[in-house]
Amino acid sequence: MLRDAIDSGVNYIDTAYLYHEGESELITGNALADGYRSKTFLATKSPIWLLNNSDDFDRILDEQLKKLKTDHIDLYLLHNIRKEYWRTKVLDFNLFEKAQKAKKAGKVRYIGFSLHDDFNTFKQVTDFYPWDFCQIQLNYMDTAYQAGLGGLRHAAKKGLGVVIMEPLKGGNLANIPASVQAVFDRSANKRTPVEWALSYLWDMPEVSLVLSGMSSPLQTEENIAYAARSRIGCLSADERKIVAAANKEFRNITAIPCTACSYCMPCPHRIAIPYAFTAFNDYHIGNRERAEHYYREVVHRFGKMPCECTTCKECEKLCPQGLKISTLLADVHKLFG
Ligand code: SF4
Ligand code: SF4
Repeated sequence: MLRDAIDSGVNYIDTAYLYHEGESELITGNALADGYRSKTFLATKSPIWLLNNSDDFDRILDEQLKKLKTDHIDLYLLHNIRKEYWRTKVLDFNLFEKAQKAKKAGKVRYIGFSLHDDFNTFKQVTDFYPWDFCQIQLNYMDTAYQAGLGGLRHAAKKGLGVVIMEPLKGGNLANIPASVQAVFDRSANKRTPVEWALSYLWDMPEVSLVLSGMSSPLQTEENIAYAARSRIGCLSADERKIVAAANKEFRNITAIPCTACSYCMPCPHRIAIPYAFTAFNDYHIGNRERAEHYYREVVHRFGKMPCECTTCKECEKLCPQGLKISTLLADVHKLFG
């Protein structure tokens, strides 16, 4: 899939030290062999929360270069900066200065960060160092969440490239409820839900790049076709109003804003957190039979049921959406239990 995508024009590959339990960089390195590396911008991330001292930064970067079978990383990010890591990791271990040294040594071309925290933290981080770029969560549902649209505009104004993650909100904007589809159906210009979500971002001049996870050759083919049709200003004023109306309708019917990112996993007590929330949300958008089936037949395959949550709240420290997971799990149990 990766090679087919590159042959069709995809030129940016995003991975991270921890993706797929550490396997992603190895797989990416293999896929980019045989000449494919030179056709791509390769992005990966330093897992700052795992660093115990500043030397760990270099050790892990060298390990990543080896796994990726390359002598340099085009875009290197300090991964998942949050308030607590900003002081204890980024500043205390001089990680930006370490990244600059790596840049001078030719191991890294551009230095950036990804962030899952509020707008003020985003602004503080953005303004502190002369970053080349940043990566933020943005989609037509999360316009005022984390960095949000305000963060996008602030970073772009400072001259940073802005890479967008979660454009489909963990897949939630790909499989949309009938009432949201009805909103999009008002447009004369027919697009799939995925194309609407991606076009919302491609439309904006401040957006440099949209990352979209793809898990099948068909999704890759479709995304490439959407990208080929996209440009800044690809939505009309009326179409922008339709996207805003879809946002409003979604808000009316989504119970738990979980993106299924799995940052909270694995739970130390093996609770199948995102799967339980998927069932809950499905129930609340009217797919009651499917939700019941999913909860009873599928959720337990991915771990323990919500009733076994100990309310230790370890997961809540990791959730980029700031969800009160233990309380919500109790709600899920109450509904299905
Ligand atoms: S609060 Fe519940 S779901 Fe979260 S880590 Fe603890 S046991 Fe797991
Ligand atoms: S609960 Fe939070 S961390 Fe866990 S999958 Fe959902 S959004 Fe991600």
